[in-house]
Amino acid sequence: MAKEWGYASHNGPDHWHELFPNAKGENQSPIELHTKDIKHDPSLQPWSVSYDGGSAKTILNNGKTCRVVFDDTYDRSMLRGGPLPGPYRLRQFHLHWGSSDDHGSEHTVDGVKYAAELHLVHWNPKYNTFKEALKQRDGIAVIGIFLKIGREKGEFQIFLDALDKIKTKGKEAPFTKFDPSCLFPACRDYWTYQGSFTTPPCEECIVWLLLKEPMTVSSDQMAKLRSLLSSAENEPPVPLVGNWRPPQPIKNRVERKPAIGELGSLPPSGAPYSKSISFLHTEQ
Ligand SMILES: [Zn+2]
Repeated sequence: MAKEWGYASHNGPDHWHELFPNAKGENQSPIELHTKDIKHDPSLQPWSVSYDGGSAKTILNNGKTCRVVFDDTYDRSMLRGGPLPGPYRLRQFHLHWGSSDDHGSEHTVDGVKYAAELHLVHWNPKYNTFKEALKQRDGIAVIGIFLKIGREKGEFQIFLDALDKIKTKGKEAPFTKFDPSCLFPACRDYWTYQGSFTTPPCEECIVWLLLKEPMTVSSDQMAKLRSLLSSAENEPPVPLVGNWRPPQPIKNRVERKPAIGELGSLPPSGAPYSKSISFLHTEQ
């Protein structure tokens, strides 16, 4: 593989394991969600955020995605509840998208690919540093939100308007006073499972909270996202599109068991729960 990983045929997801062995690990993300196999786990709690819009700092184009970075030097913008053992700090959010509206998400739901997927990355401050949290199974919590084509999302436009300042790889600009909870859908129902980062080195440290309800954006808004370039200013322009990793094997993951009584018949001892590795929480 080329020195730098990417999404092209010579350095794309099929090659990542050559430099990053985690990529063939047992708990890789994304996965295909099959909703009929997902168990309802009544022990799961509702989640909430208390984000401080003032903790937003910068927006950048690293040639692989656009990312908004937050001040995470203290407990400023926090995520709590859900499947999490404690509070987590917001560090950054970024997106994955396709070359057209009919694909681009990393997770799929009953075979459906959404136009894009937003990832809000939080880390567990009990591990003192983000770097240390990356080594822990419960070190990172990511809220994943699907983007579906429909009505324009006004709050998303604030973010999209900033992309003009970071058109090419390596550009960074101030991006302040932004509370990303304005992007959240109305319904807080989520699926959760134990997985990994979807980019190298694909560390297996993520508790995923995938929101069931997508956020709606317009086709024009998606086009704006695709106007970013993966090339640097002094290079021939290459559109930044197709920065998604396809679903990974579930293998024998059984991270959390559904509550007794929800199961119906238990699988034979030692048998995996096959696809029921993710769990649904619904608000009452
Ligand atoms: Zn991501």
